[in-house]
Parts: sequence; structure tokens; C-alpha cells
Amino acid sequence: MQIFEQIASMRQACRELQQRGKTVGLVPTMGALHDGHLSLVRAARAQCDVVAVSIFVNPLQFGPKEDLAKYPRDFERDCRMLLAEGVSLLFAPTVEQMYPPGASTVVHVEGLSDKLDGKLRPGHFHGVTTVVAKLFEIVRPRFAYFGQKDAAQLAVLRKMVRDLNMDVELVACPTIREADGLALSSRNVYLSPEQRKQALCLSRALSRVQTLAAAGEHRPATLLCATRQIIAAELAVNVDYAEIVDPDTLDPVHDLQRGALVAIACTVGATRLIDNVLLPPMKARHWSKAARQPATRPGQVPGVAAHPDERRLTRWTQ
Ligand code: AMP
Repeated sequence: MQIFEQIASMRQACRELQQRGKTVGLVPTMGALHDGHLSLVRAARAQCDVVAVSIFVNPLQFGPKEDLAKYPRDFERDCRMLLAEGVSLLFAPTVEQMYPPGASTVVHVEGLSDKLDGKLRPGHFHGVTTVVAKLFEIVRPRFAYFGQKDAAQLAVLRKMVRDLNMDVELVACPTIREADGLALSSRNVYLSPEQRKQALCLSRALSRVQTLAAAGEHRPATLLCATRQIIAAELAVNVDYAEIVDPDTLDPVHDLQRGALVAIACTVGATRLIDNVLLPPMKARHWSKAARQPATRPGQVPGVAAHPDERRLTRWTQ
């Protein structure tokens, strides 16, 4: 695995590979890697000749009171994990490389950037779009891999790629969870054992929404009420937002006919956690008794019955 800190050398390595006809897939990360990140790497490896990963804790996407300074970092461990996954190129630039003094250009996706996390974390998404646009320009990947776990980020990036005619295909990968349902996140290390248990209310609430929706409940207000009740039962957990929105526009939906994104952000102690599930379009949600078996698979929170039309849901999820 080649490790680059300099933009020029990363760019040159990518160009040489591309000139030799190799397809490059990029997995942007902030490090402190876990199985969620590795699932993106594996998806890239399955589709591309060469996998490039970036590790960059991007200051531009952190607010002044957020956890930039204490964000978990373990570069050596990350390198070992990526090496074991067959990653060819690792780009780990310094802040000065990415944002030299005087840099003043940002990429801002109007509208979408102010919704969900963008509403609570002003400026967060323009930090994300700016750094991802820069990474795309440096690497020029054919495919770039992102987690469905950050569903709002995915919507904003898709819009950026469309609006700016970027020559890259975004691949959305399903959320990877612990066996008990907790979505993997680099920030989970902040949780005490007690808080880790409390944090399970996020996946529990989403699981309940999936069950209700699968049973035919189609009123977003009712589903949100059930979500909030489950989270409210954990007194130490505060809801930052719980919304049912269109996965592309992030606007609230009034019915579930075309499917929807159920997105939650909560604070557990000082740790902010997000999670979401995609509800498939209504007409895809026909249930037989036989289908009501517990199952766990990508996109499905543990403990919730499997959707009978797996292939359809997988397409929707990705
Ligand atoms: P981060 O390092 O948190 O910026 O995440 C880098 C990429 O990994 C983003 O595209 C995330 O959506 C993705 N990711 C983070 N957690 C998970 C997870 N539990 N499952 C799948 N992808 C994830």
C-alpha cells in the first residue's frame, strides 16, 4: 500500500494508474476505521481495479463547539486494517495541504445543506461537499463509496455530483450494525457501557417504524410519534431530530407511497449519534404471514421481519 501525504504525488499515482486503464474507486473517510468503513472498501474492491482510501479529519465540517480536537485518531491501526483489505493507495493529507493559507473557495449545495444535520450543524455540509469535491479532483475516481448511514450526506453529495456534472458514480453502501442493532460509528468509542445500552433506543425506534410501516401504517405523524415514544423512554437520550423525508430532497413526506427515509439524530451524554432506515415504496410492501420471520440483512435493523421482496429493497437501499 502506497501512502501519500502530498496532493501532487497522490494525483500523479492516480493518473499513472488511469493511463494504464485501471479503474480507481475512492473511499473517503475520517479514519478511526471500523467494519462500516471496511464494507465500503470491500464494495470498491469488488468493482474496481484499484482502491484508494482517504483519511482526513476535515476541520471544515466541524462546528466551533464540536469534537474536532478529540475526534478519535489511530493512523497506525487504520493502515494495518487497510493493508489487510488490499487497499493500494492511501491518501492522508495534512490540513495545510488541503486548506493552504488563503484558500477561500467552498462548494455549497443550496437548500439541501440546511436540512437534517445541516439544520443543527450550520456549515457542516459545505465542509463535506468542499472536501469531497477536492478529493474527487485529486483522485478522479470512476466510483466513490459512501455509507447509507449518513443518508443526508449522501443526498447532498448526489446533488453536488449532478449539479456540477462530475464524472464519478456514487455508490451507496448499507449501514453496518453491531449484532444488537447499534450502527457502527467512530464516535461510539465516546460512549460509556451505560450510554452504549441507552444508544440502542435509536435502532429500536427505527426497527419499530419498519414493523409498523410493514404492517400498513402509512401516516408519517403516527410513525414519528412511535419513534419519539421509544426514545423518550430513555431519559438520558435527547432527540435532535426525528424526521420522515424524501431521500433525495430531504423534505418531509406526507405519505409513504414513494418510500421514505426515516432519519434520527440523538445526543447520548455529549455524543451525537445518527441513524436511519429507508422504507420501500408502499406498493412494494405486501406482506405474507410466511414472510414475517425475524431476519438480519443490510438495510434491516435486527429483530425486524425481512421484507419479502429482497431484491427490490436492496435496489432501493443502494
Ligand atoms: P466517516 O469516517 O465517519 O466520515 O465515514 C466515512 C464513510 O463511512 C462515510 O461514507 C460513512 O457514511 C461510512 N460509514 C460510517 N459508518 C458506517 C456504517 N456503520 N456502515 C456503513 N458505512 C458507514
